Amino acid sequence: MSATGLDFERCYRAVATRDARFDGQFFTAVRTTGIYCRPSCPAITPKRTNVTFLPTAAAAQQCGFRACRRCLPDAAPGSPLWNTRADLAARAMRLIADGVVERGGVPALADSLGYSQRQLTRVLTAELGAGPLALARAHRAHTARLLIQTTPLSMSDIAFAAGFASIRQFNDTVREVFAVSPTRLREEVRRNGDAVPATNGTLTLRLPYRDPLDRPWLEWFMSAHATPGLELWEDGAYSRSLRTPHGHANVRMSVQPGHVRATLSLHDMRDLAPTVARLRHLLDLDADPIGIDEALAAGLRGPLPSPGIRVPGCLDGPELLLRTMIGQQISVAAANTHTARLVAALGEPVPGPVPYLFPTATAIAERGAEVLTGPVRRTAAIVGAARALASGDLILHAGRTAADVRRDLLALDGVGPWTADYVTMRLLANPDILLYTDLIVRRGANLIGLDLTDTARFAPWRSYLSMHLWKHALSNPAAAPDGAAGARKARTTP
Ligand SMILES: [Zn+2]
Repeated sequence: MSATGLDFERCYRAVATRDARFDGQFFTAVRTTGIYCRPSCPAITPKRTNVTFLPTAAAAQQCGFRACRRCLPDAAPGSPLWNTRADLAARAMRLIADGVVERGGVPALADSLGYSQRQLTRVLTAELGAGPLALARAHRAHTARLLIQTTPLSMSDIAFAAGFASIRQFNDTVREVFAVSPTRLREEVRRNGDAVPATNGTLTLRLPYRDPLDRPWLEWFMSAHATPGLELWEDGAYSRSLRTPHGHANVRMSVQPGHVRATLSLHDMRDLAPTVARLRHLLDLDADPIGIDEALAAGLRGPLPSPGIRVPGCLDGPELLLRTMIGQQISVAAANTHTARLVAALGEPVPGPVPYLFPTATAIAERGAEVLTGPVRRTAAIVGAARALASGDLILHAGRTAADVRRDLLALDGVGPWTADYVTMRLLANPDILLYTDLIVRRGANLIGLDLTDTARFAPWRSYLSMHLWKHALSNPAAAPDGAAGARKARTTP
């Protein structure tokens, strides 16, 4: 094991077999060429004496290596480790991907994580091979490359959109990371079919994922929960608008073989990187499904019925919590109706195929009681949660720990274990939350004779186990005593 936790033999085997599953999980720096690659790079496998394996592109850049322009290591899926690891380094990587350093610098990053800048820099350097500034710079270089090669934007617009402080810094970074000027990088465009050019401020990107992917599950999940006015499921594509750090974005996504096709229309181009990070999080595109499926199959002592199942994440923490609370103890269809009414009354109108953004927590805190129907206690609970979010008493972002988020959620009136677990799982893309109080999950467990009090052997993948059980119960409606499986999502809350 190296200082950064990578096993040389395992990494070298992945490189020798060009195993694309490991793309994004580590980087291969080749001393003889001064270049770093993704494991599946089609170039001749370098001699073992010439390679070093590094956990991040930033670490390779720090050591003076340049990105391979043949395999484009920055275009791989992200590392699943940033979701499976709950430590400081992983939480920092999630926030860096969301653009926190570009918006507030290292002080904002350290603040969000609850550490001093010095402690944070020390931990990141030890574990990821680069400090927060270098990690953020690698992230900007990636965004810059994407924009250079997929849009007709001017270089000065790209420098701004990618988060650089000046055009000079942008030029210097691109030259250092890719060994060519931005102009030359643009001339090499589309060689790898990574994206198509933008038109009229919209941008179509391919968001890569690791195979296999259980497409029916993900599509069922997105379509079944789609709320009129806020989301649209049409011709196998999911469309909606979302709030972004500098405004809003309209997105349309569809699952394709090997990638998700995403068309983005951004109010402010600086929101590109955070928007892409959020879409990847929503669809769990950084997961390593082969590793997860092997572990679950071993636990179940049999093959998995649905290889590549994903745990849906979220685009917006407050929206996730408030919608989950609206859906407590009612069917998915009823939850969609209630949510649609709230959105129509309090949502923010936006141009695009879907008319509204989800209401702000402030709007729901102030006027939710006029609009929401149903039991008084539930309405009070939702308005109370909105108030906590609006005042900043409750903070939901992906850089927090699962224990802290769960504790804060359980402290709210009307939030029980089901809601706290479900929201924590989706907010943090946490892989190991067993939804043991969910009636559908329990039914799925009964169907296959699994004891939910004895699931330690499935750690750390119990969120994925929950999705398998959920799907299994929904696809066996005959076994559902209330005959409502497929539509009903009853829960024991709170
Ligand atoms: Zn390469």
